Amino acid sequence: MIKCKDCGERIPASYQQDTVSFEATNFTEQLEKCPNCGKVRPYFKADYFFEE
Ligand SMILES: [Zn+2]
Repeated sequence: MIKCKDCGERIPASYQQDTVSFEATNFTEQLEKCPNCGKVRPYFKADYFFEE
């Protein structure tokens, strides 16, 4: 999950991985489009979180 930087909506990331491989991943940024406001922005690893 990520939180939209424009509208603050929690949106499911198009970049999907399980927790273990995510921790091992070292990507710099990923473009995500918010389905709520339609803005496309780069998101960094620190912006992603897992929802139980
Ligand atoms: Zn948004």
